[in-house]
Amino acid sequence: MKKILILSCAALLLVSACKNKNTMDNPFFSEWNTPYNIPDFTKIKTEHYIPAFEEGMKRQKAEIDAIVNNSEAPTFENTIEALEQSGDLLNEVSGVFFNLVECINSKEMEKIAEEVTPQMAAHGDDIMLNAKLFERVKAVYNHRESLGLTGEQLRLTEETYKNFVRNGANIPADKQDRFREINSLLSSLTLRFGNNVLAATNAYKFTVNNLVLEDEGNPAEGLSGSFINDAEKDEKGDLVFTLHMPVWEPFMQQCSNRNSRREMWEAYANRCIGDKFDNRAIIDSIVNLRLERAQILGFESHAAYTLDDCLAKTPEAVYKCLMDLWEPALAKAKQERDEYQKMLDKDHPGEKLQPWDWRYYCEKLRKERYALDDDEIRPYFSLDNVREGAFTVANKLYGITFRENNELPKYHPEAISYEVLDGDNVIAILYMDFFPRESKRSGAWMTNFREQYIDKDGNNVIPIIQMVCNFTKPTKDKPSLLNFDQSETLFHEFGHCLHGILSKCHYRSISGTNVPRDFVEMPSQVMENWCRHPQVMKEYAKHYKTGEAIPDSLIAKIAAAATYGQGFINTELLAASLLDMDYHSITKPTKIVLPDFEDQAMAKIGLIPEIISRYKSPYFQHIFSGGYSAGYYSYTWTAILDADAFEAFRESGDLYNPELAKKFRHLLESGNTEDPMKLYIDFRGKEPSVEPLKRNRGLI
Ligand SMILES: [Zn+2]
Repeated sequence: MKKILILSCAALLLVSACKNKNTMDNPFFSEWNTPYNIPDFTKIKTEHYIPAFEEGMKRQKAEIDAIVNNSEAPTFENTIEALEQSGDLLNEVSGVFFNLVECINSKEMEKIAEEVTPQMAAHGDDIMLNAKLFERVKAVYNHRESLGLTGEQLRLTEETYKNFVRNGANIPADKQDRFREINSLLSSLTLRFGNNVLAATNAYKFTVNNLVLEDEGNPAEGLSGSFINDAEKDEKGDLVFTLHMPVWEPFMQQCSNRNSRREMWEAYANRCIGDKFDNRAIIDSIVNLRLERAQILGFESHAAYTLDDCLAKTPEAVYKCLMDLWEPALAKAKQERDEYQKMLDKDHPGEKLQPWDWRYYCEKLRKERYALDDDEIRPYFSLDNVREGAFTVANKLYGITFRENNELPKYHPEAISYEVLDGDNVIAILYMDFFPRESKRSGAWMTNFREQYIDKDGNNVIPIIQMVCNFTKPTKDKPSLLNFDQSETLFHEFGHCLHGILSKCHYRSISGTNVPRDFVEMPSQVMENWCRHPQVMKEYAKHYKTGEAIPDSLIAKIAAAATYGQGFINTELLAASLLDMDYHSITKPTKIVLPDFEDQAMAKIGLIPEIISRYKSPYFQHIFSGGYSAGYYSYTWTAILDADAFEAFRESGDLYNPELAKKFRHLLESGNTEDPMKLYIDFRGKEPSVEPLKRNRGLI
């Protein structure tokens, strides 16, 4: 979950090679003349972007005009395919720019992004709200069954049409103004919501006088020396603790002073309700405006609108998936509660466990029983070994190999470039960029500079994939050594890469990782299963000095740590997911009163008072200011899919079962050219089951 995937911003409109020679000295306007036509990063300068974006938009606009003004009746070729193939230059420059802004950023790059992003949004709107264009798209769509289209052409037609409709192209003229008004209201309300959360989070500071730190029962008692050392200090030298997660969470885990924990917890949980950053009225407006917009678009609820574009399809399916896990998660959480209560009894006889105690006792017990000592683990997980491990798994499953080729153009000297081969054929280019630098944002992600597709002349364009991480740098005498979490991150991002690498589609907007939101994390998460399987670990996790394979005792420790504390983790996650669904499944305008609405939603599912939703409504940014409305369930949904997918291999007794690997490869190759749920069932032979996930998370 913590891992981020950047999907190509290309979506429907954008990607690749420009053919016109231009007199300007701008490399985007001429052929690259590089191996595999990779953008020549060494020639691109920041001043080249804006003219390339502008020219790219101009050319695509001309292409759209040509489609609209075509005197021939609309056909798949002259409308849907022509639209899909428009915008080559814009795709090329977007693919380079929006990825490099994340990993070789600078003030100039940021300025360009600020200038270009609204222009691109307006350009996209101009296409999506072009009534004449939509008329042609609709004409093809209405006759799609009788046009003799291939399966992929049919899918492209349906996806294109749906994209227009979801963006408002089909709504009656008298409602269009209101539709635009709602969109604009929502964009400012969601922005205000996020700003309030940030301001409320920043406004609170818990200060501890630095002179009392040695005293028994002092407010910072129990905090580790390194945490105190790293803590923010004010001008008097006193310690300042904030509600930002990297500070708040370790504070709640370590601080043995119960009053301090309570104060920090209450400050965290009561943000944006009853203070000057109150988000309650905003929530009421957002929820009702989303309902109104969904109904203008012809859906019963906002959830129905959102899910129509996902695998889950309906709110009922989402509720079922979440409730399947809810009971076992809650039961497990209750066991955990009883254990922590016993620990609390010793420290504070006669007291009842409270939400501000949970993380503290959870961490205490983890340290006693399940602590993973990073220093013990890291030597077995050198970056080179883990990467080789991931390559080997891909090779055993799909027969592909990875050949380093430093002759390929690089955007940064630290990036390693590979040709990915299937037999003798190069099927993709892969850049791996592992270490932090000032110009790179934090986190780990996969993206691509170019999608895989078949160009206008019928040539297969191979994808150019990028994987970016922020691992510990090697030193003179030590290679980069990962902890187990980072090893899983590498396999996870590599799973996204494989989804892009193996793509075998015709049209770029539905190729590779351009799949629904509740499916895109499956190919990545599934790879984590190989990463942590004892048999696979024995193969790749070798001591960097001695070459000795990881001992069984350490593997067992890693496995035990993985299921520890899962009652709480799942319960708070599912509670938040259900809360999200409750807001967005309303079918009639509803006055949202808080905290009543949330309290009732939580009471309905029997949430225990020691646990709250992972995010309480007034600071639930994923759904009120991020892109996860009626979508927070997708973390759970994809986890069910990935556990169930790996179960197929496990059950077969062969982690590299060739027949299953072939079927899974077909799923990866197919992108969004078919309904991904159908692809999944073709692979698995049945609907996904929640049981493997329950077992993996220790909920059985
Ligand atoms: Zn991911």
